[in-house]
Amino acid sequence: MLIYRQITLFTPTRTNLMKENFCPFCNPAVLKSTFAESENFRAVYNLAPVLPGHILIVPKKHLSKFLEIDEALIAEMVSFSRKIIKVIAKAFKTDSFDWTIQDGKPAGQTVEHMHMHIIPRHENDLPDPGDWYPMLKKKTEAFIDSTNRNKLSEEEIVNICQNLKKNYRELF
Ligand SMILES: [Zn+2]
Repeated sequence: MLIYRQITLFTPTRTNLMKENFCPFCNPAVLKSTFAESENFRAVYNLAPVLPGHILIVPKKHLSKFLEIDEALIAEMVSFSRKIIKVIAKAFKTDSFDWTIQDGKPAGQTVEHMHMHIIPRHENDLPDPGDWYPMLKKKTEAFIDSTNRNKLSEEEIVNICQNLKKNYRELF
């Protein structure tokens, strides 16, 4: 049933085909790194994580900016994100997270499909706790650069997502 819905979603209309060429979150390949979903959002493992456990909350629909998210969906986004941090907390053994949305180009947004980063943190994981942000900027560039060597392998992504799917099923 779940698979059927996903296939239906990616029926290649002309508009979708155009977006798929440019948007990594509208490309069906995003399903390979998706480990959980609500009705309107996906939890996606970042292909070039800043730190282990770096995930993205992404609306299924191509929306560029935060304000394009229907007000009725905000509650779903927050409640889904809350579930996801419980999964990440369990899998990566922490209760500390950085949350960020780069909303607009001057704010550092490089992929024009709204997404929220959640990065689990541990004591002394970086020389300074704030070092994650410049790393995010570099890694965001890596995410859309398919030849970048910092990306995880497909096998690594599959293994991580299997583990996170298992944790999600156990918790919810
Ligand atoms: Zn998109």
